[in-house]
Amino acid sequence: MPKILIAECMQEISTFNPVPSSYRDFRILRGAELIDTQRGTNTGMGGAVEVFEATPGVTLVPAYGARAFSAGQLSRKGFERVAKELLEAVRNHAKGIDAMYFSMHGAMGADGELDPEGYLLQECRKILGEKIPIVISLDLHGICTARMLEHVNGLAIYHTYPHVDFADTGARAARLLLKIMAGAKPTIARVVVPALVRGDELITETGVYGGVIRQAQALEREGKALAAGFMIGNPFTDVPELCSQAIVVTDNDAATAEREAIRLAESFWPDRALMQGRLVQLDDAIAKAKTLDGAAIFTDAADATSSGATGDSNVILAALKKANYQGKVLVPIVDPPAVEAAMKAGLGGKLRVKLGGALDKRYTPLELDVTVELLSRGNIRLETSGGPNNAGNMALLLHKNYSIVAMTKSANLFDRSVFYAAGCEPRRYDLIVVKSPHCEKHMFVDWAARNFNIDAPGATSANLKSLGHTICRRPVYPLEPETTFTPKAEMYARK
Ligand SMILES: [Zn+2]
Repeated sequence: MPKILIAECMQEISTFNPVPSSYRDFRILRGAELIDTQRGTNTGMGGAVEVFEATPGVTLVPAYGARAFSAGQLSRKGFERVAKELLEAVRNHAKGIDAMYFSMHGAMGADGELDPEGYLLQECRKILGEKIPIVISLDLHGICTARMLEHVNGLAIYHTYPHVDFADTGARAARLLLKIMAGAKPTIARVVVPALVRGDELITETGVYGGVIRQAQALEREGKALAAGFMIGNPFTDVPELCSQAIVVTDNDAATAEREAIRLAESFWPDRALMQGRLVQLDDAIAKAKTLDGAAIFTDAADATSSGATGDSNVILAALKKANYQGKVLVPIVDPPAVEAAMKAGLGGKLRVKLGGALDKRYTPLELDVTVELLSRGNIRLETSGGPNNAGNMALLLHKNYSIVAMTKSANLFDRSVFYAAGCEPRRYDLIVVKSPHCEKHMFVDWAARNFNIDAPGATSANLKSLGHTICRRPVYPLEPETTFTPKAEMYARK
């Protein structure tokens, strides 16, 4: 009766968000909670559990899970506590274990540990010993390090962006682990590509990156590889091994793994310039928006909370005010002091608030006279997945032609959930600010006259050169535009 230990640790950080995240930002799941809360959901763990539970004879041993939304770098104390609890749980459940599945994101970063996933895998390996197979699942935005690859037997990587295949990836990881338990001998090849990428060409359904992913999927489908993927890293996680990389896992066939990983990397590299954010200067966008027949969407990827930014940028709001834009504007902003002041003033209250820069001091606060139109508890549900989206407390603040949805927590802002929670239908506005790396077509673009990807400052700007990387290895495109690339595979195989 094979016993499979399962654990989870998922967070994505932006080094350029000045507000550190902490232990409190994690949802901790212990023992059976890890399975019960995720069974049947579109998560890596949900997909893996479904495969394991459908396999006769397998007993699952759930140890520990820690999941957090995108945020600033994890504090030293925060990581120490998550790591201690997770490793203690693994240690307590390790007796008689035959294999381990570990669901990860891959873009963590902590004060004092810039490869948290590598550390956790190294320590799990110490506890479980050299013989126990460990398989992980990763987000394609993760940074898979050499240390991680030294300690795992195999891995499965998301194949879609925007991500829709969380459960599918978990299921692929689970099937890979079962194959290894049945005797498969994984050989992993990876080719590091010195490029950071962003922008609409990364949308796998329509962009050039999708072509590389379909090549990887074909390797899996045709049985040439046990697993294959192409990771682009998270350009905001400034850690030593930040890069893009091809990964191919074969069954004891180093030559195929090496050849196909190089082939994936060579398909990706020539399109690196295409895979950059195509951004519009704010003043130009406002001038064009003034003459549009229909609504304008201003996509502010630089302040995307779902990518790890604070959400408290007021740059677009301030520029619209300065340009005397007269249309009806809808804009979200994370601003705890402003919301608290609105709550004190009460419904219908009139007050002068400072908006923006409450968390990220690169933004200069903007003073506005507002009326409090609505107050609410922002424990809402995402429009996309139905999962929780915690906005803390919310206030809808009206100022002339501006409707400002203010909240105390850095809720996800890529869908319409926050707007709907504040009673605002985006279609009733002339200009809507969407703080997201991409603007969902059916939510905004399909009915708007035009979407502008704005070049604004922020912790998650698609203008990668503006971010100020200091840690990742160089040279890397586009930070050094002349970067060259000679494909070379690194091989990993556990004895
Ligand atoms: Zn991702």
